[in-house]
Amino acid sequence: MSDIENKIREEAKKALESSDLSVVIGWGAGSVPFKTTPVFIDKAEDVDKLVWNPACVNNLAIYLPKLAADKKVGIVAKPCDIRSIIALIQEKQIKRENVYIIGLGCAGVVDAFNLDSQDFHLQDVTGLDWTNEGLKVSTTSCDYTLSCSDCLRDMCLVCTKREPAMFDVKLGEAAKPSEIRESLIPELAEERKAYWNEQFSKCIRCYACRQVCPACYCKVCFADRVEPKWTAKKATAEEAWMFHATRMMHLVGRCIGCGECERVCPVGIPIAELAREMAEAVKKTYDYEAGDPNQESPVLGQYNENDFDPAHHG
Ligand code: SF4
Ligand code: SF4
Ligand code: SF4
Repeated sequence: MSDIENKIREEAKKALESSDLSVVIGWGAGSVPFKTTPVFIDKAEDVDKLVWNPACVNNLAIYLPKLAADKKVGIVAKPCDIRSIIALIQEKQIKRENVYIIGLGCAGVVDAFNLDSQDFHLQDVTGLDWTNEGLKVSTTSCDYTLSCSDCLRDMCLVCTKREPAMFDVKLGEAAKPSEIRESLIPELAEERKAYWNEQFSKCIRCYACRQVCPACYCKVCFADRVEPKWTAKKATAEEAWMFHATRMMHLVGRCIGCGECERVCPVGIPIAELAREMAEAVKKTYDYEAGDPNQESPVLGQYNENDFDPAHHG
């Protein structure tokens, strides 16, 4: 057990015993050693179920709007999860006083698909850990060290915010990204259109990307409305454009770049890349970043006389 994992358990235990927390949300061991699963700990004697390792991928903030609606909830959270929590507070979906944050410094988490393309068999993996050189993968026969670019999620390879921006207790240190990956998306408009046409033609409209996104909490999504009907449910590239483009519009200034949407996509569409580009445009235009604790409200909830006005700027 790592030192940080031990401390997470101690902090969770302390919080459950001494405060009015109803539950602590964290990660627990998965069915295989390279995966974890969300766990909900409501008794101090169960804190040993909490784990912390490079397979702790889920953004657990998604559970807060329901669980912390009227009671206090503890959550073990990576920096990107914490930016989701901040955004949910700013959007008045949860109250700060209803959340106890055990915040973690982060070195990035793995993409299981990347692990699958290495020199070992996934079924032989017995454990994962961070090292100064990258990621240590223990298997039944020997240990391997992988570089970050070979095994981390794409969003982690472009993430520069690896320290918790809000917390009640902070554990662990951030690791600087070893290399920042360039955007995968072509720059020229026609090439970009062709790129996304090809990607969206694979979309089966399962909505996993929407279901896992902490910012997609509408009770009825536009995609499920029949009156007015914004988009048909047909899995065609045209309808997928309508779904994804509209969803991105709804995420302007709200996506915090956790990468959950592309992690769960069963056909490998890099949808978070689209959200990241949108976030970059918002930063450039309004000097605003989602999940910034110094902002009181989302960018589209603010008005400033000097705001960029597309109608007057061509
Ligand atoms: S996106 Fe950043 S904060 Fe989130 S897991 Fe990856 S490196 Fe950590
Ligand atoms: S759109 Fe994707 S990257 Fe952005 S907050 Fe939602 S799940 Fe995370
Ligand atoms: S998860 Fe992938 S396949 Fe499913 S709706 Fe989203 S982009 Fe399409």
